Amino acid sequence: MKVLVALKRVVDFNVKIRVKPDGSGVDLNNVKMSINPFDEIAVEEAVRLKEKGIATEVVVCSVGSKACQETLRFALALGADRAIHVDGDDSPEPLVVAKVLAQICKDESPSLVILGKQAIDDDCNQVGQMLSALLDWPQGTFISELGIEGTVVHITREVDGGLEKNQISLPAVVTTDLRLNTPRFAALPNIMKAKTKPLATLELSSMSIDITRRLETLKTMEPPVRQGGKKVANVQELIDQIKKVI
Ligand code: AMP
Repeated sequence: MKVLVALKRVVDFNVKIRVKPDGSGVDLNNVKMSINPFDEIAVEEAVRLKEKGIATEVVVCSVGSKACQETLRFALALGADRAIHVDGDDSPEPLVVAKVLAQICKDESPSLVILGKQAIDDDCNQVGQMLSALLDWPQGTFISELGIEGTVVHITREVDGGLEKNQISLPAVVTTDLRLNTPRFAALPNIMKAKTKPLATLELSSMSIDITRRLETLKTMEPPVRQGGKKVANVQELIDQIKKVI
């Protein structure tokens, strides 16, 4: 069973981002970039499936500028077998990414595609759902547990009211939530080994995909500065304060 993992290169989660003075976006100059944390969890889950003898090959794929290759090499160091870099726009829209992944699924025929539930830079939470719709495959989003028996995928989803257990059938698309696993560290010998693992590059422009931009960013702003809290003397005063704001 082949597993495809989609991964995005994003601003590292430890970085305090700065908005460009003209409000045209986030300043990415000299900013540390890393694999999207949910995608690191996706790679870990795929590698565990391979270690359990369920998956036979783990292929990782990223759409974006040439710098994505560094992120793909990191995933190869975590245990993925092969990488595909789709070279194109630095910040492709979710629909474009979903169309590219759908095309790759047609060429590669994976049984399972694992994505992060969202990219932490634009928080779209769209690609997995769009990919599932384009392929007409079942989807399991926000999963915190995954088990595979034959062609049945047992998933636990994190929903507002708690946990939801479902079954879907392969081929399928799943998206990872934080509690699915704790990714391993990339050991130095594996980082060295990853340099020689296969990494293929495809040109986005040669894929016959409509890449017309459908989203327009009007302005990027810093969030409002947080106001200081206030201590209340007793419960009645707390209730009065709450009543004032609702
Ligand atoms: P989003 O819908 O943009 O929040 O992203 C959800 C998931 O889609 C991410 O966690 C990745 O697994 C995948 N994804 C998003 N953008 C890309 C990209 N440029 N290349 C590969 N995978 C991506």
